[in-house]
Amino acid sequence: VLNVYASIDLGGTKIAGALATADGQVLAQRVIPTESHAGPQAVLARIAGLVEGLAAEIDVRPHALGMGVPGLADLQTGVVKFLPNLPTQWREVPAGAVLAQALDCPVRLLNDVRMATLGELVYGGGRGTDGAPVPGALVFYALGTGIGGGIALDGRLYLGPMGASAEFGHMTIVPHGPLCVCGSRGCLEIYAGGPAITGQGVRLLLAGQTTCLYDLVEGRPERVNPAAMAKAAAMGDERVRAVLVEACTYLGISVANTILTLHPRLVVLGGSVAEIGPLLLDTVRAEVAWRVGMFSAADIAIEPSRLGNRAGLWGGIALAAGIGI
Ligand SMILES: [Zn+2]
Repeated sequence: VLNVYASIDLGGTKIAGALATADGQVLAQRVIPTESHAGPQAVLARIAGLVEGLAAEIDVRPHALGMGVPGLADLQTGVVKFLPNLPTQWREVPAGAVLAQALDCPVRLLNDVRMATLGELVYGGGRGTDGAPVPGALVFYALGTGIGGGIALDGRLYLGPMGASAEFGHMTIVPHGPLCVCGSRGCLEIYAGGPAITGQGVRLLLAGQTTCLYDLVEGRPERVNPAAMAKAAAMGDERVRAVLVEACTYLGISVANTILTLHPRLVVLGGSVAEIGPLLLDTVRAEVAWRVGMFSAADIAIEPSRLGNRAGLWGGIALAAGIGI
């Protein structure tokens, strides 16, 4: 009899669910809309229904459920503290207890970026040739609308109080830069977050200063995003390229600082902004190469995510199975 675990990655617009074995064999998976406007109780019922549906599909009940949420959750109590991007903000919702009763199995909750870090550790670049997480530190950057992060130390996710460690997006990069939502100034997110990069691309487009980007998006600002800008840069759009290099340089400064702090074995760059691709990796690696001088950074791998947007879902399987946590 297989030990089957369930994973849920709760997002503002969609819920991804999967059933898998602890060694990473996916047995069933599905994505449904969140319909978050209906409130926490209705969304939790949808999640329970999703897991039940997957279990019925393969006729095996999960041993446990690991769930990632886009905000603050208490791993010990299974209480969702605060989800800033969902209506009603989900304050003090006992999601773990509600789901454990509905599904009749243990439920563990984690912040979604920390859960993706766990996925990278156990099933992605952190997985050693023997199948176990390799020793040393692993750092994960989730580059999206915001910039989140996660840290694993010697094969285990490091969470810190309230699971709030590794907020790389709010590292100061420019001392007196613009005010950030967090209350500080000049945070990394302001320069290298998705909206910042896209905003720069739109500004160039509207100023008539782009060449390939204009053609790629047919002159429509709503079609500009970091991936399209990367494509334009690769085709020879120099101004767009300069904007991307600047954003990736700020990211490289942050990665260098993190490397100097932890001397990790691996830095994984994931999230939609990582779709910039080689230009992002090359720029970050070049910054690290000259900024990290206290020890050799030559052996530190700085890599794109192998799991892509499924890192979170994989992390939920590890969370449910109690691996790396
Ligand atoms: Zn900030």
